[in-house]
Amino acid sequence: MFLKNFTMTLMGLMSFSNLIAATPNTVVWKLDDVRAGERVRLPQGFKRVADWAEKNKTFVNFGVICDSLTNPNAEDVAWIKKNAVENGGRAEFWLHGWDHKKSGDKASEFLGSDLATQTKHLRDACDIFNKTTGLTFHAFGAPYNQFDDNTFIALDACPELKIFMFGSKKDTKRKVIARSINMEVATGKVSFDAFIKAYNDKKPSGILLLQGHCGQWDDNSFNDFVKVANFLSKEGWVTKTVSKAVE
Ligand SMILES: [Zn+2]
Repeated sequence: MFLKNFTMTLMGLMSFSNLIAATPNTVVWKLDDVRAGERVRLPQGFKRVADWAEKNKTFVNFGVICDSLTNPNAEDVAWIKKNAVENGGRAEFWLHGWDHKKSGDKASEFLGSDLATQTKHLRDACDIFNKTTGLTFHAFGAPYNQFDDNTFIALDACPELKIFMFGSKKDTKRKVIARSINMEVATGKVSFDAFIKAYNDKKPSGILLLQGHCGQWDDNSFNDFVKVANFLSKEGWVTKTVSKAVE
């Protein structure tokens, strides 16, 4: 009886480990607020993270605010092209809105604005990014992660956008990646300790989409980000671009 139970337990463990091997937990870095224009240049923090990704042979995802490309800075655009996975780099660039503007306390670019405006912002953003860099967005994440029912319809104007980061299950046409835990305790401030506490409390699995604003990180935040990445790597998490993660 003991032997039978032991054998069954062993078999259970084996099949469980096979399951993990087949579907490894995947971390996706959602790093917001790239601007690449003459008026607002690319923040230095993005270069630091891109260099880290290159050195560690890993992947990151940078969200572009696209009105900055109406008057693009040539050096910043060259940086985007060089770092894009399509060109052998380590970053997937994704659509993070046209102007990222808030209107009052309760409205923002994709929350409370009419369908025509939302549609135009998305289509113009996809087009200017393609025209400026030769690249195509495949994922969207709304400014402030705020959106409404119009957004799901507006997104249909951009069929190349197949993924909605921190979206809603109400959007049935795109792959939605939900939010679970955070590494930033405030916008632009990473805390390794807070992350570990959340990780141990919630024990995430599957795709872990972690948001950061690396353009605003100081040395402490950058170092804590690296600690989070190293911790997840030791725990067996693999890092992918957002498009690869949902394949
Ligand atoms: Zn943002």
